[in-house]
Amino acid sequence: MASIKEIMTTMEYGPSPESREHVDAWLAARRNGFGLFINGRFSEPGALFDVFNPATGEPIARVTQGSAADVDAGVSAARKALPKWSALSGHERARHLYAMARNVQKRERFLSVLETIDNGKPLRESRDIDIPLVARHFYHHAGWASLIDSEMPDTRPVGVCAQIIPWNFPLLMLAWKIAPALAAGNTVVLKPAEYTPLTALAFAEICVEAGLPAGVVNIVTGDGATGAALAAHAGVDKVAFTGSTEVGRALRKATAGTGKKLSLELGGKSPFIVFDDADLDSAVEGVVDAIWFNQGQVCCAGSRLLVAEAVADRLYAKLKARMGKLRVGDPLDKSTDIGAIVSPAQLRRIQNLVAAGEAEGLVCWRADGSVPSRGSYYPPTLITGVEPASILAREEIFGPVLVATMFRTSDEAVQLANNTRYGLAASVWTENVNRALEVAARLKAGVVWINSTNLFDAASGFGGYRESGFGREGGREGLSEYRVADVAKGKPGKAPAALNAAPGFTPSETTTGIDRTAKLYVGGKQSRPDSGYSYAVLDPKGREIGLAGLGNRKDIRNAVEAASKATSWGAATAHNRAQVLYYVAENLYAREAEFAQRLSAMTGASARAAREEVDASIRRAFFYAGFADKFDGAVHATRTRFVTLAMNEPWGVMGIVCPDEAPLLGFVSLVMPAIAMGNAVVVAPSAAHPFSATDFYSVLDTSDVPGGVVNIVTGEANVLAKTLAEHDGVDALWYAGDKAGASQVEALSAGNLKATWTVSNGLDWSQAEGREFLRRATQVKNIWTPYGE
Ligand code: NDP
Repeated sequence: MASIKEIMTTMEYGPSPESREHVDAWLAARRNGFGLFINGRFSEPGALFDVFNPATGEPIARVTQGSAADVDAGVSAARKALPKWSALSGHERARHLYAMARNVQKRERFLSVLETIDNGKPLRESRDIDIPLVARHFYHHAGWASLIDSEMPDTRPVGVCAQIIPWNFPLLMLAWKIAPALAAGNTVVLKPAEYTPLTALAFAEICVEAGLPAGVVNIVTGDGATGAALAAHAGVDKVAFTGSTEVGRALRKATAGTGKKLSLELGGKSPFIVFDDADLDSAVEGVVDAIWFNQGQVCCAGSRLLVAEAVADRLYAKLKARMGKLRVGDPLDKSTDIGAIVSPAQLRRIQNLVAAGEAEGLVCWRADGSVPSRGSYYPPTLITGVEPASILAREEIFGPVLVATMFRTSDEAVQLANNTRYGLAASVWTENVNRALEVAARLKAGVVWINSTNLFDAASGFGGYRESGFGREGGREGLSEYRVADVAKGKPGKAPAALNAAPGFTPSETTTGIDRTAKLYVGGKQSRPDSGYSYAVLDPKGREIGLAGLGNRKDIRNAVEAASKATSWGAATAHNRAQVLYYVAENLYAREAEFAQRLSAMTGASARAAREEVDASIRRAFFYAGFADKFDGAVHATRTRFVTLAMNEPWGVMGIVCPDEAPLLGFVSLVMPAIAMGNAVVVAPSAAHPFSATDFYSVLDTSDVPGGVVNIVTGEANVLAKTLAEHDGVDALWYAGDKAGASQVEALSAGNLKATWTVSNGLDWSQAEGREFLRRATQVKNIWTPYGE
């Protein structure tokens, strides 16, 4: 008779399918097609398109293609519902969100099966990960609804939110979007992905069941054109998007200059780094979760394995053994590990990318074993020896394909990890806590998992650096995307002085004799403008009071280069930065009379008003010196046995375009918070009144501000702003000026998707200080650190 051990090793898996009876009945009752969910009820079905089960290729439902008129109806309903919804007490909103969470939970099994049939993901994942996290999101944000007034004072709801989501986590992405928006007092119109709209439609029914007021949530199904119409709708105040970087970039351009708030959660090519002291068996399980979870169709998938040369062969061997045990097949089968790819088009995309890699000479390794012949399936694949320049190391494959590269030193690992235009997530495997945290700090990624991967929780922010987008979802960080901070309003921003617009504002050649032209300030040194030209600066009566350098593209590029060499400023202790800022304030104080006189001469301000502006500037520098070591991060309460550290990190290089009004105070109000947080800045000061900034050089020189931390280029503001917006070396850009300039900055920033903050509605510069400036000067990195044996 066979022993138990023999039975355990020879036993075959039997099929273990989940029942789809309830979902089939639900779909059958709606076989004539789904309408749109607008203003609390479903419309009659319109022009319909088919939705398929990726596991079989069979059509399962017909869904309405939302037209521009439908989008309009959805936005109008959301607009109409907004005043009442935003005026509800936090507690009342909390009760609604709580009811939604309860109803999701009651239907967990139904939603899991529907999600699996619609998307192709294994039931084990929809049942154990997606849907429980959906409920968790609504519970968590029910809490926020109650707390938001006390926890986020001086903020208000944004308004009507357009939310566009992808197909890889259909209901989870819906929850990530809708829960915070509603908690924060907004109303929404959501467009689910064309491939996977069904759980969003089931969710609409949950909204009705939970008694949500009509119009607070509207679901408009359709394709990319529906999404584009929604984002472009004039009645929308905010666009929240998750999907490809390409569409994210298009949305950045489409919303430029509209005043719409924008958050983008885009693609990634996330590194999974295994050091030589890692627990390799755990790391193998980590790889399985990193790249074979959801068939690798995960924006933060650990798709690039970087492994220490010393352990690479061992890791590959273990990995191959593990791959041999992965079960690919029917997603509804409870013992399936890898389900179906969402669509034939996505399958082709994966096949084509892998073929391109093979054409480069790369060799794929796959375990023996078949994949179903019907439906869209792709086997787990490992490709080793991949050079960083290979297409497979650069492009997001969005499939179950792992590419592996070896490294020798920690520095090399970090360099390879950061060698991507993306920056969504990273995973670090080592038993050495010092190494883990050091590497985590150096990685350019919005989320870093130590000895873990693909962990999510409603209490933690999630979102990317660089071309992985901006803004966060989840936790306090995510919530602030759905609120507007009440920064003191002033008069609408004026168009910055343009060279050709002001009489006498003509370029003149810099004399080579005694040069009284204010120069540029780059890398801690004064320098002549590349053009060799300067321009006349006039007083209010049109009299020339001096010459300023006419900076151009080249000067901005030099300044960005100097700033990028000075980013070690961000690694200085916050205390050191505070000391330097105090010193700036002290030196400004020592020269108060001189700065006031200069302001009067440039702007015609009374002696008293000028003195007040200098005083306010000194106070502001003190304020940010005080804040430099107090803008703390957080430890999020996520999972047990994890410390989730939310670290406020500087962007790196920031561009700052200053307003013409308040030439000194505007400059100080923008530069001080940026450098307090550890950024190096390239500043275009007021073009009309540049001398407050050029006089500042000596203040910087005498205050121990390291060279390159503050770089100042005078000239036409919108010309300089254009170069800053286009420059890939600039990570974030603040612009204070007019609407046209703001629009230009937003549109051109789409290149590297730098975060922008434009204040064209005018600020009262005497009041323009506070946490919002620090929040905008930083991005949050969430580091998940496990503890326990
Ligand atoms: P998209 O970015 O095209 O789709 C995301 C969402 O945006 C969908 O709802 C889509 O509608 C909608 N959309 C498409 N075009 C526009 C537009 N011009 N304006 C507004 N909304 C639009 O991703 P795809 O589904 O086409 O996938 C392509 C690739 O993108 C994948 O292979 C993967 O690499 C990446 N991707 C990344 C995701 C992430 O989470 N970061 C998620 C999904 C994809 P529709 O469904 O009709 O296309």
